[in-house]
Amino acid sequence: MNELLTKIQHTTRHAKQAGALHSLTTAQEVIVDHGIPFVVRILEQLDRKENYQAKQEKAKVNPFLPYEQDLFVCDLTPHHVCLLNKFNVVDHHILIITREFQPQETWLMEADFTALAHCLQRLDGLAFYNAGAIAGASQPHKHLQLIPFQSNGETFSVPIDQVLSQLNDRMQPQQIPLFPFMHGIIPLPQDYDGKILFDCYLALLRFLRFIDGPLNPGWQTQAYNLLVTRRWMLLVQRAQDQYEKIPVNSLGFAGALLVRNQMQLSLLKKLTPLQLLASVAAQGDLSQRAIAPFE
Ligand code: AMP
Repeated sequence: MNELLTKIQHTTRHAKQAGALHSLTTAQEVIVDHGIPFVVRILEQLDRKENYQAKQEKAKVNPFLPYEQDLFVCDLTPHHVCLLNKFNVVDHHILIITREFQPQETWLMEADFTALAHCLQRLDGLAFYNAGAIAGASQPHKHLQLIPFQSNGETFSVPIDQVLSQLNDRMQPQQIPLFPFMHGIIPLPQDYDGKILFDCYLALLRFLRFIDGPLNPGWQTQAYNLLVTRRWMLLVQRAQDQYEKIPVNSLGFAGALLVRNQMQLSLLKKLTPLQLLASVAAQGDLSQRAIAPFE
């Protein structure tokens, strides 16, 4: 077993005993839309998490600086630290936070991808970044996240994998015709590292015309969700954080949605999951955008 997973398991046991971890229980239902088995979690306790975060925000508390010692997993790089997510829905959900404050709405840089690659190489799962409040972020301090596919006998699945067989395996930005929103996806090589992940991110930013030359560090120009597995990286441009009060973050674009109650679940069934995603993402004529080569 690798050292990162051992540390995550150890910290989870410790944090549970210390009462620092608030695992949120959910009922779940599957809604199949165009062959994608969307997993919809019904999280009646979402208010508990939001109340806690609202209090912190009001008191201008940054929960990641200082972070709670009971949730500390390990140092990752000179610039990044690994914590447990305090309010997890799935066990072993980790946060990759910057040691010093950096705004969540600034571009990711190579150092962020080095920390991400370190975790993803040791823990097979879904990594993601909610780039700003419009993309579903609740915290302004830079944090990437990773949910392992397997933890304590539980499986976390990525429903959109069902349609990713349409992905052509050339390492260049492309699109999934079924997705009715502005996005780019790129297959990853088996031996990826932080530099390769960063290059793929740049290729996607150019593909979606967020930038058209080198990346200048600093404020992002668009809100977006970034999803990364060991096999692909997906970037979705966002227009709004919720539709009819159903909040959507990166997990939604993986096919894992969250509703607050049965009323929202009924609304989602009527609307359909892909239409919900289309409603919160940016729209545009993608065919007009030149496909940028990888390099
Ligand atoms: P996001 O909502 O995408 O910005 O992700 C931030 C995550 O931080 C949320 O999923 C929260 O559950 C989590 N969180 C909030 N407060 C803390 C805390 N004190 N320590 C660790 N994680 C936290």
